[in-house]
Order: sequence, then structure tokens, then C-alpha cells
Amino acid sequence: MTTAPAAEPPADLSDVRDALAARLPVHRADLEALVRIPSVSAPGHDPAAVRAAAEAVRDLLAARGVEHARVLEVEGSHPAVAADHLHAGPDAPTVLLYAHHDVQPPGDPARWTSPPFEPTERAGRLYGRGAADDKAGIAVHLAALDAWLQARGAVPVNLRVVVEGEEETGSAHLDALLARHAADLDADVVVVTDSMNWKVGTPALTYLLRGLVDCVVEVRALDHAVHSGMYGGAVPDALTGLVRLLGGLVDDDGAVAVPGFADDVRPASAQERDRVAALDFDEQAFREEAGVLPGVRLVGDPAATVLERLWARPTATVIGVDAPSVAASSNTLVPSARARLSLRLAPGQDPDRALAVLTDWLRGSVPWGLHVDVTPGARARAFVTDPSGPAAEATDAALGRAYGRPAVHIGVGGSIPLLEPLQRALGGPAVLLTGVEDPDTRAHGIDESLHLGDWHRACLAEAYLFAELAARGVRRGGA
Ligand SMILES: [Zn+2]
Repeated sequence: MTTAPAAEPPADLSDVRDALAARLPVHRADLEALVRIPSVSAPGHDPAAVRAAAEAVRDLLAARGVEHARVLEVEGSHPAVAADHLHAGPDAPTVLLYAHHDVQPPGDPARWTSPPFEPTERAGRLYGRGAADDKAGIAVHLAALDAWLQARGAVPVNLRVVVEGEEETGSAHLDALLARHAADLDADVVVVTDSMNWKVGTPALTYLLRGLVDCVVEVRALDHAVHSGMYGGAVPDALTGLVRLLGGLVDDDGAVAVPGFADDVRPASAQERDRVAALDFDEQAFREEAGVLPGVRLVGDPAATVLERLWARPTATVIGVDAPSVAASSNTLVPSARARLSLRLAPGQDPDRALAVLTDWLRGSVPWGLHVDVTPGARARAFVTDPSGPAAEATDAALGRAYGRPAVHIGVGGSIPLLEPLQRALGGPAVLLTGVEDPDTRAHGIDESLHLGDWHRACLAEAYLFAELAARGVRRGGA
């Protein structure tokens, strides 16, 4: 662990703060323009919309004074965008700002209170797919650098910007992007604005994310459907077989039951446990945020706290099933059925090993000799940083100053597959994971929304962060 040099407090930043406030309507309009583009990166959605979002981001970066704004092409991938503003001199740190312009599918638009791609304000929140995750992150970067350029015509750090286009599908072409464009991303510090605050008004620096393995499992029993009365009872069906198989993924508590799956989980250190214990976690509020129905129990190892289950334990979840719908069903034995599984990985777990253990277990556990195929999907390691050292201290200072409340250090159960390989490819810069989401955001869900007050504070915090990093002279590898 490194110790920060005694930092000079940044000079009075009221001009930067005021410039940001004056321009907030402009940044809000930029954000709304991005939300109107249905840039869903998932297969089956129009890739032209993701490209349109990339081009819109490029144009916004250029319009706000960032230089060399360009679309980065990687074959077979949705385009990313890069830009830079490298005028703070060789003694100033270089900071890479990351966000993503692609979004999750909206689900059934009829279930949204207002249409998913029409940004709509209600009670201080902006609703729309991507309004928080992560088009608000793009708008934070735009607002922070614009505030400095408006107020002083200069930024106190050297800036690079990268806005990815396939984060929501697991950043599958990241290695190719890094291989081709590593020089465009080189930085002392990476600011990833794609996480969340602890609560509305309480800012957070995220130091832990879980990893991820996802796959599709298909079970086949018959080469055609047959009458369930004439054959049922002797001939097996694929759907019942699939349900029996999937039921074994978890134990009675809902914790992962696949033998050996969790063997490589790294136990939390005493310091990590203390950090979690210091947070004011309210289980009832958590249940309400998640919409857990009355009488429904929380799942997972009862010996672990809820936050440990969310951040430091693996999970196994069935997130989709292809089988005849109830409306289209008939009295037949279903010949084949498939499900998509999503497994979150704890710190220490190797995604390739996790997938291999899971695949072997699925093949060995399917009943009645049914045929099983497993098609692997996204894979990512957990991402764990030490939230101390000069870059983290700079972030704490900036967040505390912008929100008027001390920042807390949190884990998040979700995954950003990009982070671990990005940090490795760039030679170990500090990665500062911040964000605008809060427990009511419903990222990836129906009625996703952004708390507009916290978004303003997040923009301000990032503008202050540039000054705090510059004041500390933060460089790659600590110091
Ligand atoms: Zn995101």
C-alpha cells in the first residue's frame, strides 16, 4: 500500500462549479439525445442504432471541445469512440475516462410507465433505457471537462476518453480493441463511471465487482414431439428433464450447489470484512428496493451476511427458458428445451474453471440419459482494488466535496468484464469506479431512471477529481 504525499488542497473551484451549473441544461439535452437512440447491443437488435449512438457520442465530444474524437472500429464488434485533450503538460497525470454507449434491451415497452427511448422526468428522476446505465456516465464526462474548458479554457490533467459499444454483451472484442488501440488508452488513472452510489446523496467508490460466467444449456430427449397420453410415463420429455437438472444448481437455501464450483473462492480479508461491516445496511429497505414480495425469503448461505452474499459469494440463476409457451402448449412431450444460465463469480474464481466445472456437472447430472449441449457465453473475473492510496484519496475528496457527505467504499454484485483486462493491458493504472446509479435506478430493468440531483453532483465530483488528481500528481503504480 502506498501513502499519499501531503496533498495541496485544490485551489478555489467555485468558477468550475458555477460553469457546470450554468451549462447543466446543455448536458441534460445531450443526455436526452443519447437516450433517444435505441442502442441495444444484444443480438437480434438493429446494430445501426449502436453505430448511430457511437457517432452521436463522437459528435458531442467534438462539440464540447475534446480533440481527435473518432469512432474506433474493431471487426465484428459494435464501434467504440475515443477522443483526447492532452494539454496539461508532461508533469500532469493522464486520466482515461470510460463509459459505454450501448444499452440492455428494454423488455416489454408496454410495462414501462413512459416509453423506454423517450426520456421523461418524473419526481426528480429521468426515466429511460440508458438514462443511468450508462449514458449518464458519458454525460458526466462531457460535463466535467466542459466545466473546466468553460471556466478556465484548460483542464488540469491530460484526458483521454473511451466510450465502448458492447459492454452490455460482455465486451467480447475487448482484447482486439486493446491490441489495436492501446496507445489511445494509455493513462495513469482510469475513471470508470458505470457503477453506483450507496444511496441517493451518499457517494461511493466501488472497490469490488463480481465476475461472470454465462451459458446456454440445451436438453434433448426426442426427435419429434409425441402425444403425452399415449407415450407419457414411459418416454421422457426434455422440459421436465431440464427443470430437474436446473433444480440441482442451488441448495435449499438458494446457494450454489454444484460440487467444487466455489473451491477457488478467495476468502475475504479481515480488512475487507471490516469495510463491509462498517456500512449501514438496512435489510428491509433492501427488500423494498428489490421488490421482494411479502413472505418471500432472501436466498444464499445463511451463515453469510446479505452484503457478503451479494459481493463475495457466487450465484447461479436461470435467466431465460426456451420451451413451448403456456398459450401455445399442447398435450405433447416436449422434444427439446433450453435455458440460459447466469453465474456470478466471487473474488478468486477463474471463469474458465467455473465454466468447466459447471459444464461437467450439467453433463453428469442430466436425468435419463438425455442429451445435453452447453454453449458458453460471456466470461469475466471479479475485479477487486484496494480503495486506498493517492488516487482513491483524490476520489474520496472530490466526492465528499461535491456531495457534502463523506464517500463510502462499496462492493457491487454486478460485473464489468472490461476492467480486469483493461487494467492489465495498461500496465496497472489505478481504476476508480464511480457512478450515478442508486438503489432505485433499476438498471437493466423496466423503468430505469437517473436521480437528477445526484447526476449533477456526480458531474461536479468528476470536475473536482481532475483537480484532486493533479494536486496529488497521481501516477501509474501509486507513488
Ligand atoms: Zn453499464
